[in-house]
Order: sequence, then structure tokens, then C-alpha cells
Amino acid sequence: MTIAIVAAMHEELSALLAQMPDEQRVRVAGRDFWVGHLRGQAVVVVLSRIGKVAAALTATVLLERFQVQAIVFTGVAGGLAPGVQVGDVVVATRLLQHDLDASPIFPKYEVPLTGHARFAADTEISDSLAAVAVGLLADPVALLGQKVVDDFALATPAVHRGLLISGDRFVSNAAESETLRRALPDALAVEMEGAAVAQVCHDYGVPFAAVRTISDRADDEAHGDFTRFVAVVASRYSLALVDAWLATLTPPT
Ligand code: SAH
Repeated sequence: MTIAIVAAMHEELSALLAQMPDEQRVRVAGRDFWVGHLRGQAVVVVLSRIGKVAAALTATVLLERFQVQAIVFTGVAGGLAPGVQVGDVVVATRLLQHDLDASPIFPKYEVPLTGHARFAADTEISDSLAAVAVGLLADPVALLGQKVVDDFALATPAVHRGLLISGDRFVSNAAESETLRRALPDALAVEMEGAAVAQVCHDYGVPFAAVRTISDRADDEAHGDFTRFVAVVASRYSLALVDAWLATLTPPT
């Protein structure tokens, strides 16, 4: 069983690669797919690049070329729902493309010919990721150090589960995030890749899960918040989450 770990950011990818004792690089479609082991588990680790098409292509190559049996996406996202704050973690239960609209031929948000707007994440993997996240966030100082916790006000981060929405836009003003909140009141957070990978995995019948750390609130401060968070905090969350989750899997016999 080989698991794909897909990261959206260089920083997250390099933190994971540093923990792989045996990675081999395979270059496909201009991307580096790193094949090896993490915590004794066979993995392919790759940078998706940003946006839905880039992420869908990466997922397809993982499934066709590397025959991975599950894909886990780790990255950052903008918080949308009230109470989804910077430093919190969102584990997706369902994923939707907020910029897809073939109405009136198909209902708004529905992916034509699939009958779905909301693609389900794998329950078992998501449950396990959420449990690991709760454990890690119980002690943010152990995870990030006192200075980072103080600088970013991350003393009491929370784990949320629910709808994650994706689109080809970095949502970085209050008006746009308010429009999304109105249109999709149950959306917890917004990012640019997850729902595309969920659609590809649905078509292939392969389990998929997404865990995102909130880097910003998708508002007028989003760009600055995002940049600082990615530079200092994001990779620590990603590495700790993926590492602790892989440690829960039964080691291959
Ligand atoms: N302006 C940024 C663009 C990065 S895109 C820059 O200077 O680098 C943001 C990445 O983080 C995407 O991969 C997306 O999935 C995620 N993300 C974080 N916050 C987001 C937001 N507010 N809106 C959309 N995507 C967001």
C-alpha cells in the first residue's frame, strides 16, 4: 500500500522530505514525485502547485503512474466560518468547487455528469487525521515553541470538521469572503486545490482526505497573514500532522 502526501507549499514539502531516509526523485510533467518511506510507510510525496488544474493533474499522475492507494492533501487555507481562526486545523468531510457553475443546465456547483457538488472525504482517514490533530493542538507550545505561539496568538487552536471549498482565486478581501459565506454558510474554509483532487479521487474510486491549517481569514489582511504564517508556522503543522498520522497506521508486515 502506497500513500500519496500532497503539499501545496515548498516549505511543507521540504519538511516532509527531510524525514524520508530513502527518497528517489521521479520527474513527470515538470513535477518532482519523491518516492520512498516516511515512518516505515511507502509514500509518494509531491508538490501539487497552486490551483485546481495543477492539483488535478498531480492527482492523476499519482494514480496512473504511481498507483497510490490513497491521497492525503496537507496545506493551508483561509478561514471562512466565524470561529475558524488562524492556527486552527480543518479536516474536510466534504469538498466543493465554489467557482463551478454550469447552471441552469446543472445545479450551481454540481460537477456536470457526476451528480455531485460535494465530494466526500474518506471517513476512516479523516477521523484518524482529526484525532491526531486534536492531540497535537492540545499542546501548541510543544508543537511550535512559546515564541511562535505568542507571536501568532496560537494558544488555543481548535480542530474543525466540515465543508472545505476550493476555487481558482486567492480570497483576500472581506467582501469576497462575505459573498462566499452567504452563498455557502456551512463552508469552514477556502483554498485552491482540495475539491479538484477530491473529484479525481472520486472518479478513480480511491480514498482521499484533506487537512488544512488556517493561515488567514480570507479578508483584507489575508495576504500578509498568509505570507507570515507560511514562512514560520505551516510546515511545522504539516510535518507533525502527517508524521503522527502515519505513525498510527499498522506497519506493513
Ligand atoms: N498571494 C499568495 C498566493 C498563494 S495561493 C502568495 O503570495 O503566494 C494560496 C495557497 O494557499 C493556495 O495553495 C491555497 O490552497 C491556500 N490558501 C490559503 N489561504 C487562502 C485564501 N484566503 N484563499 C484561497 N486559497 C488560500
